[in-house]
Amino acid sequence: MGSFSLILLPTLRCNADCDYCFERKSEHCLEIDQLGIITGKVMDHMESIQRDSLCIYWQGGEVLTLPPDWYRRAYDLIGDMAEARGKRVFHYLQSNLLGYDAKWNGIISEMFGNSAGSSMDFPNLHRRLKAGGTVEYNLIWTRKLREARDAGIKVGIIAIPNSKTLELGAERFYSYFADELGLSDFQVNTPFPGGAGGEVKPGFPLDEAGLGRFLSELAEIWTRRGLEAGVRLGPFHSLSEYFLNGTKELNCIWRDNCANEFVCVGPRGHVAQCDCWVTSYPDHRFGNILDEGSLTEMLRKSGARRDLKSRPGILIEREDCLECEYLSLCHGGCPVRAFTVYGDLMRKDPYCGAYRRLFQTMENLVDSGHLEFPARGAGGGTQTAAAVAPK
Ligand code: SF4
Ligand code: SF4
Ligand code: SF4
Repeated sequence: MGSFSLILLPTLRCNADCDYCFERKSEHCLEIDQLGIITGKVMDHMESIQRDSLCIYWQGGEVLTLPPDWYRRAYDLIGDMAEARGKRVFHYLQSNLLGYDAKWNGIISEMFGNSAGSSMDFPNLHRRLKAGGTVEYNLIWTRKLREARDAGIKVGIIAIPNSKTLELGAERFYSYFADELGLSDFQVNTPFPGGAGGEVKPGFPLDEAGLGRFLSELAEIWTRRGLEAGVRLGPFHSLSEYFLNGTKELNCIWRDNCANEFVCVGPRGHVAQCDCWVTSYPDHRFGNILDEGSLTEMLRKSGARRDLKSRPGILIEREDCLECEYLSLCHGGCPVRAFTVYGDLMRKDPYCGAYRRLFQTMENLVDSGHLEFPARGAGGGTQTAAAVAPK
């Protein structure tokens, strides 16, 4: 019957203050009884679209600003509701790890299969503590990463390149994550200038040609150094699977249409496509799940969702995607990236040129036999919220 995905933001509180954060943060937290209402409506919706399993991607704000006991109650509640309705639920955690310590080990093991996603950049120019800078952030984060891994937690990392990353080059970037931090599961996401009130984000979007060059070089380095070593590096890993055997387990930006696959719910019940829309663009929300009777009905009626669903068709008329050999892979890319750069979600992704160059590189690597064995199983990586969300 298939699965439905929910990006759930139980709080918009955060213990960090990153320059490029696209979320309008607040102290709002979801109450457990509200979680019960949301879960019930999501499961009703799953029944109406005939899905039997639910993937919940827990994100914030910062999720670990709620106590472990809150998650234990949430886990039990959702588990009981799923059992009563014959559904399966899988939980994924995305955290900045700043609040991690040993008291989290029990619930991370039980609820999240001893896996977590986190984020770090190289070099870190933008992630900073509330009362500190980037250097302090790196020190604390690196310590927490080590502690979590010592406790047996598999941690996957999302990295967002900045202009300095492009300047230092792919080799330095790869060495930092694979050699210095010893990670076997990390991925690159592309930055965008999202956020409330038209705030200027530092240096985003990145130079398209520079990003394309960086991604292509990184793909080649991963093929040369990472594959055999069992390093799972996204999005190259999933792109290699696509070009090798047509498997489409791609990041949300390259799904057929993200609006068909999941929704995001914030701590006050607001529903939208993903966290940036929920927190920073109220006009693009689908509605409020706590106020409305049925999620299915809300999604059916929502003009904002209709816009998202119609986007690939409109792009084909307005942009040059129809002539693109990678249309069936990319579908015009990500709506929020287009919207935050151009103020118009009916434009193709502003990183089009970078993606095309990357797709070409991956295809060449496959055609030339450098990626001749399936990357499946390499690293046995952690599935994180990064698979669907932009942070
Ligand atoms: S990017 Fe994430 S960790 Fe940084 S301030 Fe925003 S919500 Fe917090
Ligand atoms: S990041 Fe882009 S592609 Fe992914 S869910 Fe949000 S709008 Fe859709
Ligand atoms: S790579 Fe560019 S032209 Fe091709 S489908 Fe994606 S956005 Fe459209």
